[in-house]
Amino acid sequence: MSHLLSSLHDQALKLSRRYLACEKELLEILVKIEARKVYLEQGYASLTEYSHKALGLSRDVTWNLVTIVHKSKAIPELKQAVQLGVLPLSKARQIAPHLTRENSEKFIALAQAMPREKLQEALAKECPKIPSVEERARVINATQAELSLCLPKEVMEKIRRAQDRVSESQKKWVGLAETLEQVVEFYLQHKDPKEKAKRHEVRKAKAPVSAKQSRRTVREPDAAARSPELNLRLKNKPKKKGRVPIPAGIKHEVTIKNAHQCTYQDPRTQLRCDKERFLHIHHKLPVAMGGTNALDNLTLLCSAHHRLEHYQSSG
Ligand SMILES: [Zn+2]
Ligand SMILES: [Zn+2]
Repeated sequence: MSHLLSSLHDQALKLSRRYLACEKELLEILVKIEARKVYLEQGYASLTEYSHKALGLSRDVTWNLVTIVHKSKAIPELKQAVQLGVLPLSKARQIAPHLTRENSEKFIALAQAMPREKLQEALAKECPKIPSVEERARVINATQAELSLCLPKEVMEKIRRAQDRVSESQKKWVGLAETLEQVVEFYLQHKDPKEKAKRHEVRKAKAPVSAKQSRRTVREPDAAARSPELNLRLKNKPKKKGRVPIPAGIKHEVTIKNAHQCTYQDPRTQLRCDKERFLHIHHKLPVAMGGTNALDNLTLLCSAHHRLEHYQSSG
């Protein structure tokens, strides 16, 4: 090998050693940051957000590190194997979701000995619940995405049954992609808060006030109409403590008003958080300070930003 080539190789070797050492040190620091919740102090809702936005790590690297940090709370051997340099981060991340106290020793040893694909197969063999193919969704062109995943056999049978029903209703053979589209559409119609809120709006616009009142009368007869026994029972019934629940109609209106998305705005970038799952309704003026369930006092926050909001308002 020429002098130039071997010198390039030496430089690469030196840098990659430094890079791997840095990775290990970073993991160590992140474990401490998570333990002391330093990210809240810095105005970030979670270790993930802090690593990505404040430290500038890519989503993949953040995901790897944070998964290992969280798992290491229960299984410190995972972190130790990475720090000793016997387990690369990517493999630690691969086994982390499946580690338990019982299998950790075995899986960490497997991960050290095997390449990624073989490791995935071995994990699947050891725990039948672990799919032998990693879940993957990727966009392949402007209008389509490719999805690969492993399903339990019974679920696949149910999808086939759904495929039969969709085919019958459309009076033609329908493929799996279209079946899935129909099934998802149907599910969202029934479960998606945005769709529920839309239906609420339609109902509200249609229903005359008197009809609403008469419905209430049927459900809640006044004292004179109730039997004396029931009146006595209601009178003696202990009053429920705690806050007044937010009426369903108001919840729907909060959803519509905020487009079912976290309303947290990053003070540094002015960007709004894009989370649409695990959303909580937050009282801007806390209930304890006289805040009500009026629409103006309510907003939507994802669980991480909800925690941050309360941390900041308590400190
Ligand atoms: Zn709150
Ligand atoms: Zn958020």
